[in-house]
Amino acid sequence: MTKKFRAGILGATGVVGQRFIQLLENHPQFEVAALAASDRSQGKTYAEACTWRLPGEMPEAVKRIVVQPPSPPLECDFVFSSLPGDIAKGAEEDFARAGYPVISNSSSHRMGPDVPLLIPEVNPEHIELIDAQRTNRDYHRGFIVTNPNCSAIAIVIALAPLHQKFGVTTCVVTTMQALSGAGYPGVPSLDATDNVIPFIGGEDEKVESETRKILGVVSQGSAMDADISVSAQCNRVNVTDGHMASIRVKLARSASLDDVRQALASFMSEPQQLKLHTAPCKPIIVRDEIDRPQPRLDRDAGNGMSITVGRLMTDTVLDYRFVALGHNTIRGAAGAAILNAELLVARGYL
Ligand code: NAP
Repeated sequence: MTKKFRAGILGATGVVGQRFIQLLENHPQFEVAALAASDRSQGKTYAEACTWRLPGEMPEAVKRIVVQPPSPPLECDFVFSSLPGDIAKGAEEDFARAGYPVISNSSSHRMGPDVPLLIPEVNPEHIELIDAQRTNRDYHRGFIVTNPNCSAIAIVIALAPLHQKFGVTTCVVTTMQALSGAGYPGVPSLDATDNVIPFIGGEDEKVESETRKILGVVSQGSAMDADISVSAQCNRVNVTDGHMASIRVKLARSASLDDVRQALASFMSEPQQLKLHTAPCKPIIVRDEIDRPQPRLDRDAGNGMSITVGRLMTDTVLDYRFVALGHNTIRGAAGAAILNAELLVARGYL
């Protein structure tokens, strides 16, 4: 049996941290070796520090690990980070400087021009930014790789095949985002129940800027934005897991509805070719029923790693419209970071 890479998890007690632990149980390449969280949890065993909130039991292997501060050194080969953005910025830089690869969910480094904002199916070539980053920042073995915001990832996976085949020039998107996207305890129940909240701080801007960066190119060690106009309005809705987005697009080249459906349904990329462990067989599942996708029915498609697209039709203002849905704590967070780590292993960066 090949030796497993030892993973540390920063923010291990939170919504995303618990997903990491769940998804890494029995992973063929990675094992959880170190856990870190706030001073509320430090010095306690994980079982003492963490109220397990996912279905199923807390994995035995992590129960007795003592939670540490999120600062180097940690006994591991690399770290996954799910720290709050303000804490993540300095902590992730400290780990990278100390020689640890950092695979992050947090927003603090996503827009750095030398930081890969990576979706393995969409922009695997952005991995080469690591080389520029190491030179720019004098990191040696260490580096920072990020995954997108939990809404942006579902939107961009759905846009990617259309952009590759027909060129997306304009995208107008309205999201309906689950409560778990706000972490735990998240939105107070009296705000969330019987309600829709048309504001998620910074979210409209993240969807707009991250979409352009991910669909852009790398040139001379820097990420260059795609020339796409993106307009996003993000809403919090009373759903536990699963972010949904209503998307309208204008295309540079003409395409029939069948062409668009075929481009979405047949989308495959490097993770599928490499058969990466966490990669879904189908990154995009197209459903033709008039009332799909729905969070409760479709968020677990492809073990939570597939994006479900439905309601595909011609649009009366732009060219086409559709609805995309993804699991925000799996494809939008922990699963995305684990797939990034698997691609980094395949490319020899871990
Ligand atoms: P969360 O449930 O609030 O968990 C936060 C984690 O960070 C906990 O482990 C907490 O430890 C730790 N932490 C808080 N303050 C800290 C401090 N001062 N020093 C060290 N550790 C501290 O949040 P979450 O939803 O898991 O989100 C974590 C990160 O992932 C955020 O940056 C978020 O934007 C990003 N993200 C979340 C989602 C999602 O769907 N939830 C999706 C994509 C990205 P204690 O338990 O000890 O307080």
